This record gives sequence, structure tokens and C-alpha cells, in this order.
Amino acid sequence: MKTTAILAALAFGASATALAQQKDWNFGDGETPELWSAISTDYAACDTGKMQSPIDLTGPDAIGTVALATNFGQAAGKLSLGKEKVQIDFAPGQGKGMTSGNKAFDLLQVHFHTPAEHAVNGKRHPLVAHFVHATSAGELGVLGVFFVEGAANPAIASLLSAHQQGDGTALSVNIDDMVPERVEVYRYMGSLTTPPCSEGVNWHVANTPVEASAEQIAALRGALGPSARSIQHRNGRLLVAPQ
Ligand SMILES: [Zn+2]
Repeated sequence: MKTTAILAALAFGASATALAQQKDWNFGDGETPELWSAISTDYAACDTGKMQSPIDLTGPDAIGTVALATNFGQAAGKLSLGKEKVQIDFAPGQGKGMTSGNKAFDLLQVHFHTPAEHAVNGKRHPLVAHFVHATSAGELGVLGVFFVEGAANPAIASLLSAHQQGDGTALSVNIDDMVPERVEVYRYMGSLTTPPCSEGVNWHVANTPVEASAEQIAALRGALGPSARSIQHRNGRLLVAPQ
């Protein structure tokens, strides 16, 4: 699939639904290689690519502060559900997004994985939110935020309430409830973690988790099932870790 088609699918709920209906792959146990390239030649990069995600965020090449500015807050969107998929497609034109490396990324959607996909020193958090962005030129940038068990999260509460109404439900969430107050990130170049595993994705993973209750995490795990791709080889890629 072409990057433009992915972007269109990410940006528009209807296309995202169409994409979900065509889903012909599944997550595995999160450890065994999925071998998605055996399903379709469109998925070749999943197994031959050298810049795949997720990775274990350990042994960074450099410690440094990545200049990252976010503009989130309250945002309106629409729930998009599918097998192994719980996603909010944000309505365009709300001015939400992030600026990293002098590139302005517009927020398209957020989706979740149980457990988290990226590991830190070999360990995975029980839940992660992936905020998917794109520049006007179509370059993808993702911000990943881990969740730990703690206080109930109001944004996750809104999400779960909409989930009970089903696919296509309109909702409004305060994105800041799902992002740490100070966003300090691991930074590297990787890929989509689902077929077609397209590379050139600007990965940002926050080192500070946010909280959700055990019940909320369990509810998302129930909706998603195991939904983390196996850890991929770093293949000498530069990894910058926060201080
Ligand atoms: Zn993801």
C-alpha cells in the first residue's frame, strides 16, 4: 500500500473503517516473529526492512534533550473500532499536534496497544497510546506514551464510555490527560508497527508514563487482546534517550 493511501486512511474515519475491513493480518504473542511478509508482498518491509519498530529502548547512543513542543488539550474525534483496534480519529482543523526537529506534525489519531510495544530495558508497560501525526508533506511522526496502574484516567474513561456506544461514536477528550506534564522523549527513526510496516516514521516515546486504573487497563486489554508487535532489531540505528 502506498503511503498516501495510509495517510488518507489515517486522516479520514471512513477510509480507516474500509482499511479495517480489509485487515488480513494479526498480532501474535508479541515475541515470536509475525512473518507478515508471508501474507502479502505489500508487507515485504515488515521482514526485510532494517528500520522496523518497535525496539527495546536501551543502550542509547546519546543522552540529550529533544526539542519537542506539543499543542494538545481538548479535542473532538470519532471512535474507530476493529479487530485489535481501538482508535480515535481526530477531526481535522483543530490545530492539534507537535513540533519536533523544526517539523510541524498535525495530530491525526490516537490508538492503543496492550501491552506497550516499545520496551525499556526489556520490560513492557501494560498499555501504550500512540499519537499518530503527519507533516503537510506526508512524513509520519508518532508520540508514544506508556501507562502504569494508578488513578483512573478521565480521557480513558471518555474513551471507554464511547466504546460502549460502538464504532463511529463521537467523543471529546482532553489529550493532556494522556500525556505527561513534561514530555521528554526517546527519539529514533523507525516504522509503522503494523502492515505494511512503512519506514521513515519519526518515533518519539515519552520516558514518563501516565496513570490509568487497573480496571481501565483491563478493559482496554479486553477490547484489544494481545496487540504488540515483537521487538525488532535496532540494526545500528541512532537512539537518543532523555536525561
Ligand atoms: Zn501503534
